[in-house]
Amino acid sequence: MPRRRTKRGNERTPLDCSRDVLICGASFAGLAVARELASTGANVLVVDRYEIGERQTSACAAPTEWLRKLGLEDSMRQTFDTLVVHTPHTEVRMRLPWTFSTFDYPELCALLWEQCDASFETAKVNGRTGGVIHTDRGDLEAPLVVDALGWRRLLDGDGYQPPDAPLSRGLEVHPWGASDELEIWIDRGYVPAGYGWSFPASDEIRVGVGSFDPRHHVKEPTVRLASDLDRDAVRYQGNWIPHQLRPAAADGIFFCGDSAGHCLPLTAEGIRTALYFGIACGRELRAVVQEEKPLEAALRDYAAFSASHRWKFEAMLRAQRLVPRVPPRLLAYMLRGMETRSFLDWSFGHYLAIAPPGFASEPRTTPTAPALARAA
Ligand SMILES: Cc1cc2nc3c(=O)[nH]c(=O)nc-3n(C[C@H](O)[C@H](O)[C@H](O)COP(=O)(O)OP(=O)(O)OC[C@H]3O[C@@H](n4cnc5c(N)ncnc54)[C@H](O)[C@@H]3O)c2cc1C
Repeated sequence: MPRRRTKRGNERTPLDCSRDVLICGASFAGLAVARELASTGANVLVVDRYEIGERQTSACAAPTEWLRKLGLEDSMRQTFDTLVVHTPHTEVRMRLPWTFSTFDYPELCALLWEQCDASFETAKVNGRTGGVIHTDRGDLEAPLVVDALGWRRLLDGDGYQPPDAPLSRGLEVHPWGASDELEIWIDRGYVPAGYGWSFPASDEIRVGVGSFDPRHHVKEPTVRLASDLDRDAVRYQGNWIPHQLRPAAADGIFFCGDSAGHCLPLTAEGIRTALYFGIACGRELRAVVQEEKPLEAALRDYAAFSASHRWKFEAMLRAQRLVPRVPPRLLAYMLRGMETRSFLDWSFGHYLAIAPPGFASEPRTTPTAPALARAA
């Protein structure tokens, strides 16, 4: 369990609330938004209940090219060009057309933060009444507000709760150790619908299980997978994972990352998409700050950009629902058929194109709605 570094007692003074932009949440999505606002002259406040980088919530694997484009190479721990997929009836080695890298969460957040010129305060956001954001350090208001608070989507009245909501759940342990393989297990012996993983990151391995069905608990299978791999079940972390898009703008608020359901169904890959939609959101805010666009147009264009990805997310969700229903022997047969170079290039190429790394390096100018839709 990481040591808490958040402000306590007398340090928790009321916050100054005269800002142009208030970004709630300082993880992937929130920091991507703030980064995009650097050097606009906007007075940006980022708040989070923990210090930046203090509380990791994922296995921290992302396409290497995304990390490079954002200048985050120094946080990378290990890079993989092959994904090993285990099922009860086969083991398939998929040579990827692009690589995945695991990274160190505090380092990545620090590197993103270095590229921002916002200010940061620790504060717990409790909710919103109209344009007023309630925190444990007082009420805040700003003309531009972003909810990057994760799956709870706290700044929308329309909250939903597990286990009835479209949420998956994931839990992992972080034993010390080393391995060269990025591995996943599609095995009903661990989880009826979902998968297990082992993601090495230099001197630690992130071993976990995710269930697409929120009613299935994942602690016992996570401990069992760790034990089957001869790893210690230590240093736990877990969270709910949204698997359905939600409106990216509502009631004057921008939502990005898990708060807008931007995590991809089937793979539960949500870091790249949080960065991608965070950048798109930041570019819209930038246009408003620079008086190139009214707020209403920015909200509308950002929501349209997010919604233009709906069919891709829905296709992934259909696959998420289908895979657990495929008989295991047939699944093994299908996976073996997927090992071909041409299939892997085609399928992983399309998969990366849902949120392509090139988006990060486009010039920080204001995209128009058609330009954003083309990028999608
Ligand atoms: C076990 C597990 C492993 C995963 N592994 C991967 C992976 O390897 N690769 C991948 O791409 N995705 C992975 N994911 C998914 C990924 O973690 C999320 O999709 C991603 O973190 C979303 O980023 P975000 O910035 O939207 O939200 P989050 O990362 O959840 O950040 C939300 C931020 O808001 C803050 N916050 C929340 N509530 C409050 C509040 N009330 N007041 C103030 N601050 C608050 C939090 O402290 C946090 O900093 C994994 C998920 C889980 C559960």
